[in-house]
Amino acid sequence: LGPTVCVGEILVEIVATTVGDGFREAQPLIGPFASGAPAIFVSQCGRLGGRAAMIGAVGTDDFGRVNLERLKGDGVDISAISVDPDYPTGSAFVRYRKDGSRDFVYNIATSAAARFGWSDDVSNLIGRAGHLHVMGSALSVPSAREVIDKAVDIVKARGGTLSVDPNIRKELKLDDDTERRFSRLVAAADLLLPSGEELGRAAGVEGEANAIRRLFEIGVKEIVLKRGANGATYYGCDGERIDAPAFVVTEVDPTGAGDCFGGAYLTCRRLGMPVEDALTYAAAAGARNVTVIGPMEGAGTKEQLDAFIAATERRS
Ligand code: ATP
Repeated sequence: LGPTVCVGEILVEIVATTVGDGFREAQPLIGPFASGAPAIFVSQCGRLGGRAAMIGAVGTDDFGRVNLERLKGDGVDISAISVDPDYPTGSAFVRYRKDGSRDFVYNIATSAAARFGWSDDVSNLIGRAGHLHVMGSALSVPSAREVIDKAVDIVKARGGTLSVDPNIRKELKLDDDTERRFSRLVAAADLLLPSGEELGRAAGVEGEANAIRRLFEIGVKEIVLKRGANGATYYGCDGERIDAPAFVVTEVDPTGAGDCFGGAYLTCRRLGMPVEDALTYAAAAGARNVTVIGPMEGAGTKEQLDAFIAATERRS
C-alpha cells in the first residue's frame, strides 16, 4: 500500500503562554513551532511509523526550515513540499481567551502556504499514494483546489482511500463554488473526521443522528466524531457505534488535538489495527498533545503512546 499523503497549509505557529483577551495581555508569546493542520496530521502519522508524505509549500526562510526538519525527522516524505523563493513561510498566532475559546491571526494568503500547485513531484507522489487526507480549510486556497481535485480523482481511481477533516468552523462563510467543492469532497470521503460543530455543516442537516444518517446516504463509509475532552464516537456505515472515552489530562494547549487524533486513528487502521484499538491510540494521541504547548509538540511515537495509555486514566 502506498503512503498516506496530506495536502494543505504548512505554517509556523507562535503561541501566547498566558490567557488574555488580547495578544498584548497574553504575554509572553513563544515559538516558532512547526504547524498547519495537515502538517500536524502527517507528523503524527510519521511518528507512529506509518508511511506518510506531505504536499504543500514553505519559503526559503528559517520558518520553512523549522517545518522541513521537523517533518523529515518524523519520517515524513517531504519530496513534494515546494520551497518558494518569492514568498515567506505562512504563520499563525494563537491566544486563548478567559472563556476558553481561542483566536488565531493567520498570515497564509500572502505566504508560500497559499501558492503551491500541481508539479512533477506532486504527480509522482500522488501516482503512488495509498491514501489521501484533505482538510476542508484547504479549499479556501485557490491553488490547492486544483491539487485536491486531481489528487482525489487519481487516488480514488487507483483504489486508494480518502479521509476528510471538514476543519471549517461554523462562523466561516464559504462562497458558492467553495461550498460545492466542500460537499463533493465530503461525499467522496471513506473516513470523515468532524468535530462536533462541523458535523451538521458537513451533512447539511442539524442533529447528530440526522447528520450521521445523511452522511452515510451520500456515500461516506466511516465517521469519527471528535468531542474534545468528552472523547469521540465511531460510526460505521453498517450501523456500528463505538464510544471512545477521553483520557484524563490537564489541558495546556488544545490546538492540534484533532489532527493528532485523526493521524493516529488513520495510521493505526492502515497498519491493520481493529477500530477499537485504533480509537484508543487516537484518543491517547489527542490527549497527549494537549498536555504540552505547541500544535504538534505532543504528537507521540508508538512507544510514547503505549506508555501514556498504561499510565493515564480514562473517563468512563
Ligand atoms: P483541533 O481543531 O484543536 O485540532 P478538534 O476540534 O478537531 O481539535 P478535538 O475534539 O478538540 O478535535 O480533539 C480530538 C480528540 O483529542 C478528542 O476526541 C479527544 O479524544 C482528545 N482530546 C482533545 N482535548 C482533550 C482533553 N482536554 N482531554 C482529553 N482528551 C482530549
